Amino acid sequence: MPGSINDLPPLRDALAAHGLMARKSFGQHFLLDLNITRKIARLAELSRGDTVIEVGPGPGGLTRALLETGAKVVAVEKDERFRPLLEDLAAASQGALTLVIGDALTVDEARLAGGAPAHVVSNLPYNVGTPLLIKWLTGPWTPASLTLMFQKEVAERIAAQPGASAYGRLAVIAQATSAAQVVMEVPARAFTPPPKVDSAVVRLTPRRDRPAPERLDALQKITAAAFGQRRKMLRASLKTMGGEALAIHAGLDPQARAETIDVAGFLRLADGWLHNRGG
Ligand code: SAM
Repeated sequence: MPGSINDLPPLRDALAAHGLMARKSFGQHFLLDLNITRKIARLAELSRGDTVIEVGPGPGGLTRALLETGAKVVAVEKDERFRPLLEDLAAASQGALTLVIGDALTVDEARLAGGAPAHVVSNLPYNVGTPLLIKWLTGPWTPASLTLMFQKEVAERIAAQPGASAYGRLAVIAQATSAAQVVMEVPARAFTPPPKVDSAVVRLTPRRDRPAPERLDALQKITAAAFGQRRKMLRASLKTMGGEALAIHAGLDPQARAETIDVAGFLRLADGWLHNRGG
């Protein structure tokens, strides 16, 4: 049994020793270059003793880099095949790594973190990246920070500003609940096997004054209607929710289109709609 992380075999050898190949159905594209995983860990700005929840450790390259920072890592992996490899890493971490085999979409993060504040760092499986982000930004548990690898196109949609072609529902929900910034781009060739598209890391810091659940729910409904009919003016796309009067009350031009309205404008629309419903 290895005595420390430095004694572990290189990631490729560990994968080969356990007979592990990437599976598409689990969104598996591995980072086997420790220079890249260390850079992601640095971008997470962790301090010794911080608690980190990592989704999808897979072969454990990012996990190793996170452990090197002195953080305590709780890693949630859905693919049972990785258990023996990750148990070797947990043993070498001397108590710093806790392995959970399970689905990140349904885990209770507050319980995993033992009630302590926790950061989330992950090279996300692309098929569940957006639902996981929405869970962390709008669900009952609030992370201290999120440092997440997405497909580049999704990363751009999270951080987009009004007027940009990538600006839409995801930008509004992400930025109403957090400060979001693309902090690193990673070419497809950096992954094993390489995905079809490039990736990027987004760093998000949840806002202390995050809208209350009812307000967030209204924001989800307003943005669904407004961006559901992208080319339409607000007075038409929001017709069943208050249309022209709702837009005017929010200080917006009823002839404006959703893609030009900033996050504050959408929050005013959500508040007006809640108010009209007696909320
Ligand atoms: N962190 C590793 C790396 O950077 O090399 C692997 C990243 S790979 C893109 C995504 C990982 O998430 C895979 O290990 C996959 O099995 C795991 N995964 C997929 N869906 C998951 C889910 N719902 N919950 C937890 N892990 C999941």
